[in-house]
Amino acid sequence: MKDKYASILKACGIKDVNSGACWGEWIDNPGGGELEVFTPIDGTKLATVLMAGPDDYDTVMEKSEAAFKTWRMVPAPKRGEIIRQLGNALREKKDDLGALVALEMGKIVGEGGGEVQEMIDICDFSVGLARQLYGLSLHSERPGHRMYEQWHPLGTVGVISAFNFPVAVWAWNAAIAAVCGDTTIWKPSSETPLTAIAVQHICNDVMKAHDLEGIFNLVVGRGSSIGEKLIADRRIPLVSATGSCEMGYRIGEVVGKRLGRTILELGGNNALLVMDDANLDLALRAILFGAVGTAGQRCTSTRRIIMHEKIYDELLGRLVKAYGTVPIGDPLDPDILMGPLVNAAAVEIMQAAIGRIKDSGGTIVYGGEPITIDGLEGGHYVKPCIAEASNDWQIVQDETFAPILYAIKCSSIEDAIEIQNNVVQGLSSACFTTNLLSSENFLSHKGSDCGIANINIGTSGAEIGGAFGGEKETGGGREAGSDSWKAYMRRQTNTINWTSELPLAQGIKFGD
Ligand code: NAD
Repeated sequence: MKDKYASILKACGIKDVNSGACWGEWIDNPGGGELEVFTPIDGTKLATVLMAGPDDYDTVMEKSEAAFKTWRMVPAPKRGEIIRQLGNALREKKDDLGALVALEMGKIVGEGGGEVQEMIDICDFSVGLARQLYGLSLHSERPGHRMYEQWHPLGTVGVISAFNFPVAVWAWNAAIAAVCGDTTIWKPSSETPLTAIAVQHICNDVMKAHDLEGIFNLVVGRGSSIGEKLIADRRIPLVSATGSCEMGYRIGEVVGKRLGRTILELGGNNALLVMDDANLDLALRAILFGAVGTAGQRCTSTRRIIMHEKIYDELLGRLVKAYGTVPIGDPLDPDILMGPLVNAAAVEIMQAAIGRIKDSGGTIVYGGEPITIDGLEGGHYVKPCIAEASNDWQIVQDETFAPILYAIKCSSIEDAIEIQNNVVQGLSSACFTTNLLSSENFLSHKGSDCGIANINIGTSGAEIGGAFGGEKETGGGREAGSDSWKAYMRRQTNTINWTSELPLAQGIKFGD
């Protein structure tokens, strides 16, 4: 193994063989089988993880339930203080953990660091939130009565995460859930167990200093085994799951059947609209970051550009030129802008999608082919692709999790909005325009139907302060900032009678 890989793994506490089950203490020999982890950079094997078996899952879950009983009684600002310390521990580990993200899933090291920064930011946000878990004070219709709402912790929250944001999405859930008084049990993607183990080490250190365990818990395992066990577990009142729509249909069904709650953060099919009055320099940069960043493997990646017919040829020509200048290669090299896809299957899925575009009558105007990088022969590299396409084609309607950008023509803002909304997903959207009327149209009730709608910035790269999530088959969940915390608590309405009378609501007389 290359020295630089070994030193990243060592700095993050990753050994050759690692336990994948932990509640603060690691289970020595979990029985869920071996998971070998390879880097998409060049196919080198990084480590082995012993996955959690059903008994290990139950052990971790029991610890989590026991910890909840103590944690829920810790005053929220004190919980916030511990999350402040977690944020500081992450600050110290930012470079190491960011490099491990790059090594394990292939995003460029700058974006890996950005992901850890999101974890730090959400910890900071949660510290303040710990003093702002507000309920309402209400006016009772009955004399001498007081009504109010309060928010109680829920219990153990199940967090299922996708490979493409292997640590930030966990933090969005876990930091908020923790200040709300919940414990979490995390099932990371089987593509990215090492970053999860590294995060768990950091959590363990912070929690041990307070003599706490069972607040942050980890079970590495397949979706079909441990994932299924988790979603069916009636001890888990809320499952927050990030991944494909297919995964969401299944989780919605299983958790819904037991009337549990979900936060579903699923696939996107994000469009960026460019009107004829747009600043094309800005649009070009935003498209490039949105479509090529993270090698097109963000839920918010720009997948469709809907360009006004008057600027279509010019912008497409400029984009093709810009695509030709993107340095592709080792994501640990700071000069590289696009790393590999996550695995060989992702390259195959991209190639199949390109076949379907051609079969539908589309034209590939740039790239799309697999490439080999000198010295990184076992890696999963591709050229990003631009294709002229029609929004109606099934391949355009589907989310292909790869750097394929569809160029689509429109004739007006109304036309562009109709095209953009004509997909089943509803995560992120953006409109480039300098015309106030177009901008307001896009943001109006008849405008974008997505959870995120931006003007003159791209579809990806959301800040944690806002609520993050999407509509339609993206699942409807909201995470991170604003009032997303409410999903992690249960609301209780309290009425207190401070008189010696017992008046009934609605003026009902009963037996007197
Ligand atoms: P995926 O659906 O293959 O897996 C996501 C997670 O779900 C993994 O941990 C997996 O093990 C688990 N899982 C799968 N089936 C399960 C089951 N039956 N029970 C329990 N768990 C199960 O997704 P992926 O390839 O890791 O990630 C890419 C997808 O995630 C894309 O569709 C992307 O758009 C989406 N995503 C969405 C958001 C968002 O916020 N909307 C963020 C990141 C990624």
